[in-house]
Amino acid sequence: MAWSNSADKALRERAAAVIPNGMYGHQSVAPLPDGYPQFYAKAKGAYLWDADGNEYIDYMCGYGPNLLGYGHPEVDAAFTAQLAKGDAMTGPGVVMVDAAEAMVRQISHAHWVMFCKNGTDATTMALMIARHHTGRKTIIRAKGAYHGAVPWCSPSPNGITPADRADQIFCDYNDPASLEAAVRLAGSDLAAIFAAPIKHDVFVDQEPLDPEYARRARALADETGAVLVVDDVRAGLRLARDCSWSLVGVQPDLSCWGKAIANGHPLSALAGSEPFRRAAGTIFATGSYWFAAAPMAAAVATLKLIRETDYLERTIRIGDRLRKGLDEAAEQHGFRLRQTGPSQMPLIFFDDDPGFGKTYFWISALVRRGVLMHPWHNMFTCAAMTEADVDATLERASDAFALTRAAGRIEPIEALLARTR
Ligand code: PMP
Repeated sequence: MAWSNSADKALRERAAAVIPNGMYGHQSVAPLPDGYPQFYAKAKGAYLWDADGNEYIDYMCGYGPNLLGYGHPEVDAAFTAQLAKGDAMTGPGVVMVDAAEAMVRQISHAHWVMFCKNGTDATTMALMIARHHTGRKTIIRAKGAYHGAVPWCSPSPNGITPADRADQIFCDYNDPASLEAAVRLAGSDLAAIFAAPIKHDVFVDQEPLDPEYARRARALADETGAVLVVDDVRAGLRLARDCSWSLVGVQPDLSCWGKAIANGHPLSALAGSEPFRRAAGTIFATGSYWFAAAPMAAAVATLKLIRETDYLERTIRIGDRLRKGLDEAAEQHGFRLRQTGPSQMPLIFFDDDPGFGKTYFWISALVRRGVLMHPWHNMFTCAAMTEADVDATLERASDAFALTRAAGRIEPIEALLARTR
């Protein structure tokens, strides 16, 4: 079947009438490559089908939740079995305790866990607990790091007042001196240091964690009595079977989880160590759907697979194969790529591409060949991807490089020219 996007276009027209801007959130903040689908019909394993029936090997994995494969049979069996018994009830299902035990067992710094729905819930609870625990207000976080979409951390100024953003100091990720300066500025009012597990900001190359930065953050939190928070919402369970900073031997006080913990079923969590239990138990935190039982059953099944399968090694192997193959294919066509981040969370830019023109052109060609990649947000491999999927991707990527080469001079994306690399 030839690729087409007439159904997607028709849906966008209808959406424009009944949804502000036709779309909000990630898919609306910057233009996406030409032909990029907005609406999807179904997903299974490593694949996704859009509203027109086009099939894609999906390297976005739902922006993170798809870790083991869409519709994973064991996870979904646990979900549907619980759904049949009861989901959003007057109180939590009995499975909540199983899920909490499974999380605490999995995360070495954690002695307790609180479930919620979105990553933003977890980061916001971390903020509240840190302030309640310390009786202080100021938090330090890195410029450009995403922690969610509520007023204290939204990346957009629209609808937000300076008061919403009060008591925050920004530092440069991976720069211990900048962190130290921020700590000095906070003085006796420092409540928390927030940190991403790696630098996985949008529009810029990813950076691995500098272990020295992590150790310094830990030491500064200890010296000042502030709370160290690692926001593992996106990278959690993708870098390690534990909190991502365990890889450098640094334990946070609180860690934020979401996305992959129930393999796509709506659940997030805040995990904490013992000293923060009392403050955690005395903030007011809840939501109508937070105690729904079916996603918690999915989390129990997901965490069992995390412990018992080689899902992590598989996502890394697949990512390595993709990275190496793309570098080779690009070189054959006279391009150089900047592939950054862990190979299981790849971000791919063309080198020498101000305004992202080549990157957009290439991804648009890939879309038309059944490969879904993203031009400025890190991507993901999932455990359902096979070597054959990667090889099919590489073949199509090679065709897309050839087209990009044949296009000659490619105009930058006007709206993105201002973004610095
Ligand atoms: N923190 C990080 C690092 C994230 O990547 C995200 C989501 N992209 C969030 C927090 C917020 O999670 P959610 O969108 O589920 O509220």
